[in-house]
Amino acid sequence: MMGMNMSYMLMVMLPGMVLSGLASMMVKRTFAKYENVGTQRNMTGAEAAKLMLERQGVTDCKIEAVSGRLSDHYDPRVKTLRLSEPVYNARSISAIGVACHEAGHALQHAQSYPWLKMRSALVPVTSLSSKMSMPVIMLGGLLLQFVPVFGMPVLLLGCALFAVAATFAVVTLPVEWDASKRAKTAMVDAGIVSQSEVGGAGSVLNAAFLTYLAAAITSIMTMLYYLHRAGVLQRILSALARR
Ligand SMILES: [Zn+2]
Repeated sequence: MMGMNMSYMLMVMLPGMVLSGLASMMVKRTFAKYENVGTQRNMTGAEAAKLMLERQGVTDCKIEAVSGRLSDHYDPRVKTLRLSEPVYNARSISAIGVACHEAGHALQHAQSYPWLKMRSALVPVTSLSSKMSMPVIMLGGLLLQFVPVFGMPVLLLGCALFAVAATFAVVTLPVEWDASKRAKTAMVDAGIVSQSEVGGAGSVLNAAFLTYLAAAITSIMTMLYYLHRAGVLQRILSALARR
């Protein structure tokens, strides 16, 4: 058991933690940099999101302020854009970038963007499977030592549950990338930022994307690790080598 924990640390946890840490550092640094830079139009995050959505023909989306930093999100169930207080009221490039990115999700929803639909469909399954995967994998690992016949199927079930969470993290990538892409174009089209100001907003959004990328990579690596522990990875590799 000790050996498993050590190799898990080295193979998965450490690179994952370093990657996620670097990404979140980048987000904080870039956000802070453009938090002190205003725009010519001088709109708040909330005003910018509202104008962007209006220009894109979305009029039934509510915009609310929520407490917390970087807690901004769009809730498709109630068609509500929730912006953190520092974004809702601020007039910085950072605030406008984040607000318009969230408006990008509302736009995806209004236009039935397929990856968003898929992501929303995965939410309930993912929350269940991410709670279950670890205990099932642990149980499988334990059983494998005493009754291998039962251990293997339980371990594989655990891997399958974990695969749902990994799929969710991967499906999140096109959704986040597309929301930022929509924001960058629509911000300029609506005259919220000028062509020379959009670069800063883009940097904030690109940094935010790195955190989703780090999460997806960590998730895939963890899944590969469990498949390796279950011996499935070796079988796949040797099958490929024989061809
Ligand atoms: Zn997003």
